[in-house]
Amino acid sequence: MDEIDDNEFNVIDSDLEETNTNINKKQIQKNINFKKKKTRLLIKKKTEGFQEEWLEIYKWLIYDSSKKLMFCSLCKSHKKLNRFGKEGSKNFKTSALSEHASTKDHTDATNLEISRAEFIRVSNNSIDKAQNHIGSLMKIIFWLAENDISLNKLSEVVKLCRILGCPQLISASSTINYENNVSGREILSAISISIEETIWNQCLK
Ligand SMILES: [Zn+2]
Repeated sequence: MDEIDDNEFNVIDSDLEETNTNINKKQIQKNINFKKKKTRLLIKKKTEGFQEEWLEIYKWLIYDSSKKLMFCSLCKSHKKLNRFGKEGSKNFKTSALSEHASTKDHTDATNLEISRAEFIRVSNNSIDKAQNHIGSLMKIIFWLAENDISLNKLSEVVKLCRILGCPQLISASSTINYENNVSGREILSAISISIEETIWNQCLK
């Protein structure tokens, strides 16, 4: 019996392995194709001036056709003082582009761009989390008030919600969590003002 089970696992394992190998093969083929395309474009007949194809190879490249100048979007946005970041370059050679890509300015700008994107992703994520957290606190505070339970019990109830695994609440070790009864009172008064406003608006209609 054991032997049969083992065999079944072996079949599944080798299936998985095959799928992984196929994915790797596809990725390698894709890389080879891109490299071939790049080489083909780079060794293409020598023509004067700017080559549209460069925009495909160097994603950071910007061409201002009215001024006939090339810029680097990354160096420009991170205010690097090199030619591609400031006044623009008229050096229409692939060697000039690959040289620019390997400069310290450009590498720094690329790294800054990566950290900026990461910062935006993380802060958006934490804004969402904070909003969900406050939303849950408002529900808890409203429930306490509705049931005539003292706001002094807020932190205990929040603790219970955490034990029960409420996913909307941020970690108790977080520096700002609005869980003490002072913030509880502030949130409650915000809720009551908003309820009062809604009632007044309905009465005045
Ligand atoms: Zn650059």
